[in-house]
Amino acid sequence: MPVIKLLNNLPRRHRIAIFALGIGMGILAMLPSEQAVASRAIAEQTDALIVAGERYPLALEVENIPFNESRRHAQEQIVQVKSGDALSLIFSRQGLPSALLHELSQLEEAKALQSLHPGDKLTFRYNRNNEFTALLYSLDAARTLEITKGAKGLSSRIHSASLESRSRFAQGRVSSSFWNAGKTAGLSASQIMSLAGMFAWDLDFALDIREGDYFTVLFEEQYKDGLRVGSGDILAAEFVNQGKVYRAVRHEDGNYYSPEGRAMRKSFLRAPVNFTHISSNFNPRRLHPVTGQVRPHRGIDYAARTGTPIMAAGSGVVTESGYNRFNGNYVFIRHDSTYVTKYLHLHKRMVKKGQRVKQEQQIGTLGATGRVTGPHLHYEFLVNGVHKDPKTVKLPQAAKLPAAELARFKPRANQLLAQLTRVGNVMLAKN
Ligand SMILES: [Zn+2]
Repeated sequence: MPVIKLLNNLPRRHRIAIFALGIGMGILAMLPSEQAVASRAIAEQTDALIVAGERYPLALEVENIPFNESRRHAQEQIVQVKSGDALSLIFSRQGLPSALLHELSQLEEAKALQSLHPGDKLTFRYNRNNEFTALLYSLDAARTLEITKGAKGLSSRIHSASLESRSRFAQGRVSSSFWNAGKTAGLSASQIMSLAGMFAWDLDFALDIREGDYFTVLFEEQYKDGLRVGSGDILAAEFVNQGKVYRAVRHEDGNYYSPEGRAMRKSFLRAPVNFTHISSNFNPRRLHPVTGQVRPHRGIDYAARTGTPIMAAGSGVVTESGYNRFNGNYVFIRHDSTYVTKYLHLHKRMVKKGQRVKQEQQIGTLGATGRVTGPHLHYEFLVNGVHKDPKTVKLPQAAKLPAAELARFKPRANQLLAQLTRVGNVMLAKN
């Protein structure tokens, strides 16, 4: 199922309106003095047309000073940095004195100019007498360094073109793998990892994802002057795994919480291996690597390449780190008086007996040591000494956000989740 851009779902006349605004912006771009202000206003109008979209304040916004309208310039030269160019070379090509370059190098903010990259653009401005008045250099998508020559010499400041943050929806349905579904839905690699990351305490992405599972994601995108300059954080997400619904919302602290305000991060990861390393995550009938039979045994086997990193499922103390001919290299971790996890057949052990480990800390690499026929991790989860299925075992819930935080979290979470459900249902119905 491809990503559905909300823009495409807009009524036709809205799309025409957006298109017209785009042309308007193009024309305005040719009028430098008004450009900054005008494009910002247009971006806001365009935003208003995104039906279910919302705008959020951006952390990137440093400072927002409009360009000084009175500082007119007679001519402007835009220089593109070529490979091997240095600022001194560019200055001499511009016919600028080395004294100016020296003065410029004294400015703290001008340090960025010492590491130019091919393709970077420098804008030189001159007055009617052909005297240097200013140099502009874009530091990143949002910030421009402006160095101006005044009566007292050079001064510099950083302008921030306000980045527009718009929200967008994407939906994916798993047909071959979770990764492919994410790609097809138009998510970036880091967004796919982030989506798997926020549900890693509820769902085993290595073994439990099934064909037909689907997810709906609301995420941010950054725009500058109407152009997309980057994709950002996932604001809210819903994952339906084998019919069960999981939901998470990003809080202002940057962490993800359930709709009730409980941290998605819990005491135990559902899988001690990252799903991207697992090749066959669609075989519900797992064969035991030794007996070759489909039968439940006391652990879960994750088949992957030798050397794949193995993480501690939870924080705790290493009670065993050793070798024998059945287990191969093995590590046992006691998490508290109730929970113990065991990791067998490791290629390398990276922790010692008695050592404290943190959740997600690498404790070794996957291997084929001991009584095995191929490389895999044999993982066991024990509750009060009894083997349990780590995927289905009831685990302690994370604490709720403190009351004051919860009061801020809830209204926004409810709003985002309502949007997610509404748009998700529309998308589902269409596909
Ligand atoms: Zn096993």
